[in-house]
Amino acid sequence: MTDATLHRPGAAEAAANEVLATDALARILAAVRPVGATETIPLWTGHRRVLAEDLRSAIDVPAHDNAAMDGYAVRGADLPAAGIARLTLVGRTLAGHPWACVIGTGQCVAITTGAPLPAGTDTVVMVERTEAVGDTILIDAGTRPGDNVRFAGEDVRKGSLVAAAGTWLNPALVGVVASLGVDSVAVYRRPRVALLSTGDEVQAPGTALRSGGVYDSNRYALNGLLASLGAEVIDLGAVPDDPDRLRDALADAASRSDVVISSGGVSVGEADFIKPILAGLGSVNFWRLAIRPGRPLTFGRIGAAVFFGLPGNPVAVMVTFLAFVRPALQQLMGMRPTALIRLEATCAERLRKRPGRREFQRGIARTGADGKLQVRPTGRQGSGILTSMSEANCLIVLSEDRGTVEPGERVSIDLLPWATIAPLDDGKEAS
Ligand code: AMP
Ligand code: MG
Repeated sequence: MTDATLHRPGAAEAAANEVLATDALARILAAVRPVGATETIPLWTGHRRVLAEDLRSAIDVPAHDNAAMDGYAVRGADLPAAGIARLTLVGRTLAGHPWACVIGTGQCVAITTGAPLPAGTDTVVMVERTEAVGDTILIDAGTRPGDNVRFAGEDVRKGSLVAAAGTWLNPALVGVVASLGVDSVAVYRRPRVALLSTGDEVQAPGTALRSGGVYDSNRYALNGLLASLGAEVIDLGAVPDDPDRLRDALADAASRSDVVISSGGVSVGEADFIKPILAGLGSVNFWRLAIRPGRPLTFGRIGAAVFFGLPGNPVAVMVTFLAFVRPALQQLMGMRPTALIRLEATCAERLRKRPGRREFQRGIARTGADGKLQVRPTGRQGSGILTSMSEANCLIVLSEDRGTVEPGERVSIDLLPWATIAPLDDGKEAS
């Protein structure tokens, strides 16, 4: 630990050998290099990939002025200032079937949404504001020139920068890229993440539970967390608490991945071998954080691979992944690391806490009767209680120097990436 670390806010209360969460993240990000290698992939598989080059549009989107409504394409000059105008219907145009002729004064064309505006027209009168009497269309004064038209390039202008290299492709952006007519994208290679659990007691789900056994929930939860980031998972199963086998497993994992993530075996118990093995195989950057849960998170390097030794307790696994591994992987993927969405909420219940460590309590945030966001903890907060995580939609983040929180106090919450928030009328009859 550096002197600077010791003089950070909260450091006074943290035990001398514990690294503060913000310093830990800074050390992780300083140690992680983007994979760099790129590949061109079908856009169809582009969701959650990171763009490796700037994306510019070769076309205007939409490509031509077109109708935003079903109705009649008219010349703005023919619209009545007051009263009713009578225009002559000279044809119809449907989406995908442009009208080749030019419209003259006093004429109009029936048009459907998405059909290009016939030459000479600049306005669409929605069908609800019209009345057809044979080939004469009566139009009232409620439409202004230019109404109900989507203009060429109003979504994306030809030549403009649509997304910069390093942008994470989300479903909407994949759609935007498709709207440019592009069907393949240059992206960074997905980071390869080798995943293993440790512990003599850890058993694969689907097997009969032995005496003293526990099913391997960590690898399953981590697999989901990694998949939602777009990483490629190399599943190495569970390894018993045997130093030789653990050493072999970690060396093998590091030889075929960018990142190795293990869970368990990082505390100071008799069967906790990860830290000494890491020190022998590679290097230990830190192994004790001023956070709760997740204090024994171990970070270092094995050869070219970055190593995260997550704690064994399932809640600590998820919390440390979200706070430290997720941003590191994002940086590795070629994007700027992002924080979880942080909001402020009023705490509805008392939260017991001692100053010293940053705490991540699991919470359920929702809109209160006053329309404001409130949060309450999800029952028992033990780091082995994984349902506290599955029921939560946020982490209540309590800073190092904070003590017990009383009802009504404001707290910071970080929304879980998969969070949903119950609406105001949740559980009540809709009125
Ligand atoms: P450890 O850090 O190895 O001492 O593990 C702490 C706690 O987490 C113990 O109760 C372990 O049984 C439990 N644990 C460790 N690995 C897993 C796992 N993969 N899935 C579920 N629980 C685990
Ligand atoms: Mg263990």
